[in-house]
Amino acid sequence: MGGGRPEPAGPGTLPQASQLPHAVAMAHQTAVAALREAYAALPDGAPVRLAKRTSNLFRFRDPLPRSAAGQRPGGPAATPGLDVSAFTRVLHVDPRARAAVVGGMTTYEDLADATLRHGLMPLVVPQLKTITLGGAVTGLGIESTSLRNGLPHESVTAMEILTGDGRVVTAAPVGEHADLFRGFPNSYGTLGYALSLTIELEPVQPFVHLRHFAFTTPEACMEAVGQIAADGSLHGHRADFVDGTAFSLDEIHLTVGAYSDVAPWRSDYTGQHIYYQSVRGPREDFLTIRDYLWRWDTDWFWCSRPFGVQHPVIRRLWPRRYRRSDVYRALVAFDRRHRLYDTFNANRGRPPREAVIQDVEIPLGRCAEFLRFFCAEVGMSPVWLCPLRLRSASPWPLYPLEPGTPYVNFGFWGTVPLPPGRADGYHNRVVEAQVAALGGSKGLYSTSFYSEDEFWAAYNGPAYARLKHAYDGVGRLAGLYDKCVRGR
Ligand SMILES: Cc1cc2nc3c(=O)[nH]c(=O)nc-3n(C[C@H](O)[C@H](O)[C@H](O)COP(=O)(O)OP(=O)(O)OC[C@H]3O[C@@H](n4cnc5c(N)ncnc54)[C@H](O)[C@@H]3O)c2cc1C
Repeated sequence: MGGGRPEPAGPGTLPQASQLPHAVAMAHQTAVAALREAYAALPDGAPVRLAKRTSNLFRFRDPLPRSAAGQRPGGPAATPGLDVSAFTRVLHVDPRARAAVVGGMTTYEDLADATLRHGLMPLVVPQLKTITLGGAVTGLGIESTSLRNGLPHESVTAMEILTGDGRVVTAAPVGEHADLFRGFPNSYGTLGYALSLTIELEPVQPFVHLRHFAFTTPEACMEAVGQIAADGSLHGHRADFVDGTAFSLDEIHLTVGAYSDVAPWRSDYTGQHIYYQSVRGPREDFLTIRDYLWRWDTDWFWCSRPFGVQHPVIRRLWPRRYRRSDVYRALVAFDRRHRLYDTFNANRGRPPREAVIQDVEIPLGRCAEFLRFFCAEVGMSPVWLCPLRLRSASPWPLYPLEPGTPYVNFGFWGTVPLPPGRADGYHNRVVEAQVAALGGSKGLYSTSFYSEDEFWAAYNGPAYARLKHAYDGVGRLAGLYDKCVRGR
C-alpha cells in the first residue's frame, strides 16, 4: 500500500501545548505506531474507513466498516476499517494554560466532562454529544459561541495527523505543515486523520442565563443578529451564546445566553419538558452549563418527533438513557438501510418524500432573503439559526467564509414531499443553487448534488489539489468530491 512500512512515531509528533504526563505520552505513541502499522497493512486499493462506533454524517451509503482486527462496531461489515479506539480519550487538560490535548476521535461529551471539571470548556462545543473533535474540525462544527469564537478548528493550536501517504506529522499554524493545518477544515478525512489535537479552552460559570427574543419578520431578527455581532449583547443582555429557532416567517426566536454564577431556578429538558418548545416562552430561563451544552441533544433538536417520543405518554415510557441524538440517528440509519418508511409511504399511496438535511451559511445581509426563499420553496419547520463569524483574520482555504463578515448558519433536518414529476434531489438542488446565488456555502456532512465543476469552484479545487498531492499523492484516501458527492 501507498505508505510502505511505517517508521515508529518519533518524539515531536504530539501536539505540545502542555506537558503530557510521561505514561500518557508513551501509551499514545504506542497507539500511533500501531495505527500506522494497521494503515500500512490495509489491502491495496481497498477503501479506507474509520471503524468508529458513532457518526453524525448524513450520507447513509455504506454500512459501518469492520475494524481491521475483525471487530464490528455496529452493522454488517463492508470494508476493513481502521481501529481508532485508542484515540477516543482526553490525554491532558492543563488548567493554567487553558489548553487540552485530546485524542482525535474523542466525543465532545467526554471532552466537555473532562474540561468542565476544571471550570473550562472548548471554545465551541457542537450540540450533539457524539460529535468528535476530529470530526468537528475536519467537518466544520458550529455552535452558539460561534459568533464570538468562530468555528471549532479556529481554537486548535496543533494537530497530529496520519496523512494519506502514511506519515504522521504535526500540523500547526506555522512550520512545515502549516498548509495542511489550514487546509484540514472541510477536508473530511480525505487528506488524513487527526490523531490528537491541542485546543484552547475558556473559563465557564456554573449556569447560563437565557433570554428568548421573539421576532415577527426575518428582517427584524437579522437586524438583532447584526446588533449582537456589533455590540456583543442584545437589549443589555450579554451574548456569550446566541442561536435561534424559526417556526415560521412570523415566529422566529433568538436565544441569547450569558454565563452566570447564580440561578434563581434551573430548568431540565432531559425529562418531560422539551427544549425547542421552551424557546416560545417564558422569555427567561436558567440551565446548568452542562445542561445548556446538551440542550439540543436530548431531542436531536426536534428530530425525535417522528419517533413519537415528544408525545407525553410515550415520552414517559421511553427510557431516559435513550433520549439521545446517537440513538435517534441509529434508528434513522436502520430505517434507511431497510427502507421501512419509504415502503410504508408507498403502500399508502403517498407521494415520495425527499430528505432535506443540510446546514448552510449565508452572509448576514442576505439571510432574511434566504429564510423567505426556504419557507416558500421547501417549507420545512422549524429551522435552526446559528450566527457565526470567523475568529481568524485570514480565510480557511477549503471553506470560503470571509473573515470579519457575520453569517447565519441555517440547519434544517427533515423530509418534504416531492412535487409531482420531480425526482429525488429536487429540493436539495434548489437549495444549493440559492445558497450559491446569495454568496453562501453549504456544509458537506450530508448529501450534495453539485457537478464536479461547481463543486471545485465552490470549495477551492486548486488548493485542495495541491494538498492532496502533497499529503496523499497516490490517492490512498477518497477524494473530497468522490466522498462528499459520489458517496465513495
Ligand atoms: C441532524 C444533524 C445536525 C447537526 N448539527 C450540527 C450542529 O449543530 N453543530 C455541529 O457542529 N455539527 C452538526 N452536525 C454535523 C456534524 O458536526 C458533522 O457531521 C461532523 O463532521 C460529524 O463529526 P463526527 O465526529 O460524528 O464524525 P463522523 O460522522 O464519524 O465523520 C465525519 C467525517 O469526518 C471524518 N473524520 C472523522 N474523524 C476524523 C478525524 N479524527 N480526522 C479526520 N477526519 C475525520 C470522517 O472520515 C468523515 O468523513 C449535524 C449533523 C446532523 C446530521
